[in-house]
Order: sequence, then structure tokens, then C-alpha cells
Amino acid sequence: MQDTVKPSEPHVMTTYGRVPVALERGQGVRVWDVNGKEYLDALGGIAVNTLGHNHSKLVAALHDQMTKLIHTSNYYYVPGQEKLAALLVERSKMTNVFFCSTGLEANEAAIKISRKYGVDKGIEKPVIVVFDHAFHGRSIATMSATANPKVRNGFGPLLDGFLRVPANDFVALQEATEGNPNIVAVMMEPIQGEGGLHPMRAEFMKQVRELCDAKDWLFVVDEIQAGMGRTGKWFAHQWSGIVPDVMSLAKGLGSGVPVGAVVAGPKAAKVLQPGNHGTTFGGNPLAMRAGVETIAIMEEEGLLANATKVGDYLQAALNQALAGTPGFVEVRGQGLMIGVELNKPCGELITRGVQEAGLLFSVTADTVIRIVPPLILTEAEADEIVTKLVPLVKSF
Ligand code: PLP
Repeated sequence: MQDTVKPSEPHVMTTYGRVPVALERGQGVRVWDVNGKEYLDALGGIAVNTLGHNHSKLVAALHDQMTKLIHTSNYYYVPGQEKLAALLVERSKMTNVFFCSTGLEANEAAIKISRKYGVDKGIEKPVIVVFDHAFHGRSIATMSATANPKVRNGFGPLLDGFLRVPANDFVALQEATEGNPNIVAVMMEPIQGEGGLHPMRAEFMKQVRELCDAKDWLFVVDEIQAGMGRTGKWFAHQWSGIVPDVMSLAKGLGSGVPVGAVVAGPKAAKVLQPGNHGTTFGGNPLAMRAGVETIAIMEEEGLLANATKVGDYLQAALNQALAGTPGFVEVRGQGLMIGVELNKPCGELITRGVQEAGLLFSVTADTVIRIVPPLILTEAEADEIVTKLVPLVKSF
């Protein structure tokens, strides 16, 4: 097997600890590096490449759009915004959408909506309830909402106005918020991705919904990683039957083109008024075409059902192959959002996966191998993931 070469990038800021491989092209769930070596992509650009790489229909639509208009500005109507908004509203049973370009930007808007919802009611110092292990982004506000000290440390002073409670513990949530007149919202990931693939229980989400209704708080769900079909429903919270007041989306929405969105229900949809919020790139014609086309192709190809079918198959196969392996804790997740937990930090497996197995994946929360491949993954490709990953874990 050809060795991967560590590319040199003396002019790029050292923000990332890179895996030593430079990727050049992709097709479906496969990518090739600059030396022509092939990899199976079980990471999908970190839950972004919904349709895999170089999907012919998406590429044709983007090409067509590029020859018409790439960017105008939000000074003018952008017809694609209403098209994509209508598709998201129909699938979420919510009412209105604001477009941006990234996940943290979507969460910034969700936080601003939550704060202003409270301020409009006369609450001067609004507080948003967030959870242990939460990850909401790396801007000052979203970092303040995030739990992981590695993300937060060194950037203080962080923002006030977040109250952190344990996940899946309704009594703790009630006790922490009891009598606090400043609470305006509860914000959660239905499945915590960066925090280690921890799902919120359906029962807990229903209880939070009822509490938010009773107290007139907004229920904000961060679907940036778990949304857009990854778990087998359009949005992961739909497994619990609740409808949130605010939902943030990004990652898979544009299948690789940066597209973010905040979707709001009736309680939250009118909070932002002209002049309150905006962004230069958000909702541009190319981004909107990517979102519209991603949803159309997902439907044509039955990718929600595929995420459930192949996701269940892959989880079962990993469980079977890893049962009894020393250090293996469990496989968990939903659809094609899968975590394999080991009993010790396993970050070094990422590079070994690339070099020894030709497999791309990541590790979250130090001990959880994260598998979030394109939703076009077949059972045969799932078998390949197992064949490549299991020997790495067994020899670790
Ligand atoms: N929220 C969740 C749940 C995420 O997983 C991420 C990214 O991993 C973000 C927010 C931040 O998104 P972005 O990196 O696009 O800013």
C-alpha cells in the first residue's frame, strides 16, 4: 500500500491538527488523494456530503446555476430562498426560514431569536438552558453555549445567559430552572454529535416540549449534525414526535455547498424584524439551488429510508464484529449517525485508518469513533467499513 505523505502548508494557520493526507477528487462514497490512493469516506465531510461526492445531478444543477447567478445580495428578492424555505417548512411543520451559510451562524440566529423573544416580553437578562456535552459552534455566543472546556478555554470572557444542566434528566432541569423568571429557551441537539454521539431520549424531549409550552419558553433544536435525513427522518427530533419553535440546520443541507438555515414556528417566526439580523452570503442563489437540489435528489433516491436501512445494517454488523473485543464499549446512534465507543482515547486511529485501511472517519469526545457517511451508502459499502474498521479496533 502506498504511504501517505504529509503535505506542507507553511502559509495556512495551524488551526487544525491535520490527518496526513491531501484529498484531490471524489466519486460517490470514495475519495482519492493527490497520489491516487483510494479511500472509503465514512466521514462525509463531517456529516456534510449527503449525496456523496460528484453527484452528477447536483453538479449539473450547480453548473446551470453558476452560469445564471452565483450571488446577488439580500437587498433583492432571491427566488431560490422561497423555494428552499417552502421545502423546509413543509418537512418540519414549522413556518418561516432565515438563511445563512454555516452552523454556528444558524445557532447565533437561534440564540438572538431566543434572547429577543424574552426581551420583547420584558425580560432584561434572558437565559437559555443548554446541556452537558453540548456543542453549538465556535463563535463567542455558540462557544458559550458549548460545554467542552477544550473549545471554550482561552477565549474568555464568555457570554452570560446560559444555564447548563445534565442531559436526559427532567427533574434536574426542573430544579435548575424553578422560579427563574429569566429563562427564555431550552436549546439542545437531539443527538449530541461532537459530545460523543449521545441521544436525547424521546420521553425527555416530550417533557421539555411540555415545560416550554407551560412556561412560554422557546424549544430550540440544533439539527446541524443530526438533521437533513441523517437519522432516517428529515429531522432527528421527529423521532420523538415533538415540533420545536426554532431549529438550526447547516452541514448536510447543501451536500457540500455552505448552506445554513434557521427554521422557526409561529411563536418565533416574527421575532426578527428588518434591521435586527442579516448576513451577506446567506441565501445566495447558488446556495439555494444546492439546498433545493439536495432535497429533490434525496427524495428521488429514497435516502431517508436508505439511512435507516443501511444505518441499522451497519450498526448490527459493527456490534456483531466487535462483540467481546477488549476495550469495545458499545455501538450507538440512529440511521447513519453512528458512534463506536471504546474505553480509552482513540484519536490515533484516525491516522491509522487513513494509512492502514484507506478509511476516513473521525473521533469525538476522545473515545468515540464517529461514522457519518454520505446517505447514499449501500450495504456492500457498509460491509467494507466493517472490514476496514474492525481490525483497527481489535489491534488497538
Ligand atoms: N452545532 C452542531 C450540533 C454541530 O455539530 C456543529 C458542527 O460540528 C455546529 C453546530 C457548528 O457548525 P459549523 O462548524 O458549520 O459552524
